[in-house]
Amino acid sequence: MNLGDLTKAQLKEYIKSIGQSPFRADQIYKWIHAGIEAADEMTNIPLTLRQKLCEEFEIFLPAIHKKLESKLDGTVKYLLRLSDGNIIETVVMDYHHGKSICISSQVGCRMGCSFCASTLHGLTRNLSPFEIEGQILRAQKDLGVKISNVVIMGIGEPLDNYDNIITFLKNINDESGVGLGYRHITLSTCGLADKIRTLADEEIPINLAISLHAPTDEVRKTLMPVANAYSLENLMSACDYYFDKTHRRITFEYALVKDKNSHTEEARTLAKLLRGRNCHVNLIPVNPVMERDNIRTSEKETQDFKKALESLGINATVRRELGADINASCGQLRNNEL
Ligand code: SAH
Repeated sequence: MNLGDLTKAQLKEYIKSIGQSPFRADQIYKWIHAGIEAADEMTNIPLTLRQKLCEEFEIFLPAIHKKLESKLDGTVKYLLRLSDGNIIETVVMDYHHGKSICISSQVGCRMGCSFCASTLHGLTRNLSPFEIEGQILRAQKDLGVKISNVVIMGIGEPLDNYDNIITFLKNINDESGVGLGYRHITLSTCGLADKIRTLADEEIPINLAISLHAPTDEVRKTLMPVANAYSLENLMSACDYYFDKTHRRITFEYALVKDKNSHTEEARTLAKLLRGRNCHVNLIPVNPVMERDNIRTSEKETQDFKKALESLGINATVRRELGADINASCGQLRNNEL
């Protein structure tokens, strides 16, 4: 196990169990979450304790396997290598007044969305809490910047790796670690309604983004197998519960796939579905994935859809495309590598 996978409470317990003073746990926690890569770097920890830690735990940050930088907008995409050789994708973007990072939550994905490259080879395994955090630590070290915004929108379905995501969130929020406020974190999910309700009860008020992609169950089922398990009625009521508990405005993501969910009639049905909710729609002209036959909407079709939503009182934006010259959406880079 990686030392960084422990919660602070677990680390304290462990330190106590080996007869060390509790303040050692605080010191070690700080070092690990500052992104050290070897026990030697913990200069205020006695050698014998450092040796013991090395015997029982792994100290490892994801390594840079490949790094691509966009000449258009400075977006940086990483393929990171985990200690078992698996490869994940991480992207750093300039965003408003700071750096935003898009991180992966699993190696692969088992949700099977028809337009998504991340799911083409299924799920290999979950990422551990520190493999999720390690993407942030690695990028901060490599770029020499502090990341100010985190979006969990890379490879994987975060709520399908629930416990590890919760440990990760608590660890990066901790003042003696990365110290990132929950308001600066957004989790995107394909809509595991029961897990959304559980998350709402955690008192971890992060922003929620829902991959909706269709205004009816019928259309949604053609794009997302998860729609067979959770109806829109169930999903929307889970979203309402999340909003009641956290008061965070929910974002609904909608990938526009030509002629599958892209007509203005669907925009009107979507507006009806979302009416009265404090939310925002993020439209994403679909990034065609080679292995699938999805077609992107034209600029006009995209704008018509947006206008139809707005005319019915629903806020909508079209997602800015970043890093277009260095290989597009989530999972594509990793797939090329595989
Ligand atoms: N599993 C999570 C996070 C992953 S992806 C989720 O489903 O939300 C982040 C967003 O990109 C999701 O809304 C996803 O549906 C969308 N997406 C995936 N592939 C895409 C593609 N080829 N074009 C446009 N959006 C895509």
